[in-house]
Amino acid sequence: MSDSIECPKCGKKTVVQRQNDVYQCLSCDFKKDFSQPAKPKSDNKFLWVSIITFIVALFLLGATDNTPNTTQFEHLSSPVPEPVQPTRN
Ligand SMILES: [Zn+2]
Repeated sequence: MSDSIECPKCGKKTVVQRQNDVYQCLSCDFKKDFSQPAKPKSDNKFLWVSIITFIVALFLLGATDNTPNTTQFEHLSSPVPEPVQPTRN
């Protein structure tokens, strides 16, 4: 019989074709729906691209944070307010 398909879950040849693209095992709750195509690899690729972009963004943010800002401190401390001279009349 062409309908007896071995179940990959329980190993029994009790998988029957329920619908055009749906196979179901009678012994266990295994169900295979061939109507829904497997996820294309483009989704996985997009996931990796997003992860790499996220890592690069973190790296760039970390690089900007790690830059020595001693010059900025010097610039900030350089404008010393001149002491106000008491005007004598
Ligand atoms: Zn089964």
